[in-house]
Amino acid sequence: MPAGQRTLLASLRAATRPQRRPHPSLALARSIPTATIQTRSLASQVDTRQGWTREQVQEVYDSPLMELIFRAASVHRLNHPPDQVQLCTLLNIKTGGCSEDCSYCAQSSKYADKVGLKAEKLTDVETVLAEARKAKENGSTRFCMGAAWRDMSGRKRGFERILKMVEGVRAMDMEVCTTLGMLSPEQAQKLKEAGLTAYNHNLDTSREYYPKVITTRKYDERLETIEAVRSAGISVCSGGIIGLGENDGDRVGLIYEMSQLPEPPESFPVNALVAIPGTPLEQNERVTIQELLRTIATARIVLPTSIIRFAAGRISYTETEQAMAFMAGANAIFTGERMLTTPTSGWDEDHAMLGRWGLKGMGSFESTTVRMKEDKRALEATEARRSSVGRQGEVVGESQAAATQTVAA
Ligand code: SF4
Repeated sequence: MPAGQRTLLASLRAATRPQRRPHPSLALARSIPTATIQTRSLASQVDTRQGWTREQVQEVYDSPLMELIFRAASVHRLNHPPDQVQLCTLLNIKTGGCSEDCSYCAQSSKYADKVGLKAEKLTDVETVLAEARKAKENGSTRFCMGAAWRDMSGRKRGFERILKMVEGVRAMDMEVCTTLGMLSPEQAQKLKEAGLTAYNHNLDTSREYYPKVITTRKYDERLETIEAVRSAGISVCSGGIIGLGENDGDRVGLIYEMSQLPEPPESFPVNALVAIPGTPLEQNERVTIQELLRTIATARIVLPTSIIRFAAGRISYTETEQAMAFMAGANAIFTGERMLTTPTSGWDEDHAMLGRWGLKGMGSFESTTVRMKEDKRALEATEARRSSVGRQGEVVGESQAAATQTVAA
């Protein structure tokens, strides 16, 4: 066919081709803020803060639930492998006897008589490492250790023991996290040097509702610990509890606070209150699945790069409800024998559940934010080694020169 005819035929085909109209879901996906999409190139963008106002977060939270979940699922897919869920195990290494008065907690000494929980001493290193080994063998890739303390002051020997636990767990090639109460910048630095991946310190709820839950520690003190952790180069794990008696605005307030941190938390745990008999909140009702999903989905949209951790209380939701939470953006769970003093589902049960929904466990150090911090840490260690070798070289050079002068003299 001559070239002129071919061109004519092509233009006729183009003119008669049916116009493709974009699927409505594309318009919704396109409505995801550009800043969120840009976080895909996270490796080159340390600051992913999006400048949310509280009103904007509230608007997201209040949007129709199915639309909210769809939008969260879209953000999730842009920032995380959608088929991966991190499996974490949280061990209590020091039970009860805490001087704080968190009204949801069985470990506060204030409620010890009513709760009937006996305070215990700090567990020894070998017992903890055996538990970490068991967690790893069962597929957990992050091992967390919790101690019921206000802070670490006056606990020098205990702190040294904890540093050994951190070193031991890190040597198993697991991500290692601790939650030990308030932390000074010096303690944060030591934990980092021992190999700590993340430090958990929750804000619990909104700034306004917080005094109704805890009176012995201020909101700003919590923020100071979070800052000490971040400054040391450790990943921040910080979230809250829903079901404390707060309202929707307080859940929004918590997520908004997180969005205002200098960098988003690596991990945002969403705990559904486990109302423990003997605590002041023992009569609180379980949060509805809709409240839970709204909180998870809003957190996923506002904190796109964070791991959203469906933490305590998960066991009280059906498997389908849990699957909805994964759809809404949750991508970490606690699994194993217990979660501090509250029950959780076991490894076998959770592996089977994830398998039924086409999900699988996340490997250690696979999340982008953790990997970035680990890379930075490795780089710092290499530079420190280089400069120390350089200094030694200078010292050797100086002493050789001095020796030559002595011989010459
Ligand atoms: S600081 Fe921790 S252990 Fe102590 S009462 Fe509060 S939640 Fe419980």
